[in-house]
Amino acid sequence: MPLLVMKFGGTSVANIDRIHRAAKRVALEVAKGYDVIVIVSAMSGKTNELVGWVGETSPLYDAREYDAVVSSGENVTAGLMALRLQEMDIPARSWQGWQVPILTTSAHSAARFIDIPRANIDQKFAEGFRVAVVAGFQGVSAEGRITTLGRGGSDTTAVAFAAAFGAERCDIYTDVDGVYTTDPRICDRARKLDRIAFEEMLELASLGAKVLQTRSVELAMRYKVRLRVLSSFEEPSDTAGTLVCGEEEIMESNAVAGVAFSRDEAKMTLISVADRPGIAAAIFGPLAEAGVNVDMIVQNISEDGRTDMTFSCPNDQVLRAEKAIAEAKARGDFNFSDLVTDLAVAKVSVVGIGMRSHAGVAAQMFKALSAEGINIKVITTSEIKISVLIDRKYMELAVQALHDIFGLDKAA
Ligand code: ADP
Ligand code: ASP
Ligand code: MG
Repeated sequence: MPLLVMKFGGTSVANIDRIHRAAKRVALEVAKGYDVIVIVSAMSGKTNELVGWVGETSPLYDAREYDAVVSSGENVTAGLMALRLQEMDIPARSWQGWQVPILTTSAHSAARFIDIPRANIDQKFAEGFRVAVVAGFQGVSAEGRITTLGRGGSDTTAVAFAAAFGAERCDIYTDVDGVYTTDPRICDRARKLDRIAFEEMLELASLGAKVLQTRSVELAMRYKVRLRVLSSFEEPSDTAGTLVCGEEEIMESNAVAGVAFSRDEAKMTLISVADRPGIAAAIFGPLAEAGVNVDMIVQNISEDGRTDMTFSCPNDQVLRAEKAIAEAKARGDFNFSDLVTDLAVAKVSVVGIGMRSHAGVAAQMFKALSAEGINIKVITTSEIKISVLIDRKYMELAVQALHDIFGLDKAA
């Protein structure tokens, strides 16, 4: 039988009534003749609550127990969804990650899939089950411990199952009716896209658009999964939502497809380090070893053989970064006169495959920001994106200004 993967995010399973509504959508697909793998998130707010409880109990927690706790929200919704489907006379059962088994690395809270053997679920389908309800976000390591995939990881579970089971499509049901030119909660002129290219979605996700977890887009691109984002609150239709697809399936596009932002950034500057070969390696080596995800880097113009080195990283990694730098300095790896940390910055990015063939996008972006009096602190670019670091208080304004200057409220 043809197979679909349907993933329901936290708001789509937020209470018993919503689970009921989601189950009705599953029933529609079953009635069309599909076997369905349903991936569920925890009820909205649940994972945050669990994360909070771990922190209250043990600030420097054991990552294995963290995963044991935070994965539990999905177990509840998986069971409830299976029960609801059974009430509708649809043969269904729930699966926790270890039961499938969903085999992952043992990188707790950031685990990656190793394999999803199909045999157990296939056997149940062969026995007449029509729906497998799988708890998203979780798996099991070779050591037999429960792992999680990082926040938003149920999207990745969904795409991985679609790839492993050769699903006709992977539908991601969420609280917005598709992928927009920017977060519709920030910009009321944001426009829903009918289609977006994998490459663009990948950049938008990794630059902060949390509508899809970055890994899920990577997997969809690699395994050519037909990925659709749509609302669980709107009437079902075949053309609803946004299709994330290959570039060749998109007829025309603007130079810029979307604007993404990330609020939780920090900027750190080492003042007056020696400008010598190996200095970048000496600074960024220990940061990498400490698990700091350094994003943007600039080395300023040097004077008298000394220079300032600036980089950005997630806000919650600043303490770790400061510790790594202090230790490296104490070892005599490098020297500096001061370390300046700015915790109130945000990153705003424009993304579009059209940039490959359109000149002047960067200039237009900088002009729009300057017209709003927004100072740019750091810039990075790639073939299809330009990112700037700015004061966080101007983030919304910058998103609006960029959305306007690139005419994103209008179709190409
Ligand atoms: P779920 O719980 O269903 O996984 P998420 O909260 O993880 O939902 O993702 C959906 C949210 O992503 C939306 O509510 C929206 O605020 C946000 N978002 C950010 N950027 C975009 C974008 N470009 N298009 C659509 N939604 C976006
Ligand atoms: N419940 C997890 C989270 O909130 C995973 C997910 O919903 O995708 O991050
Ligand atoms: Mg999500």
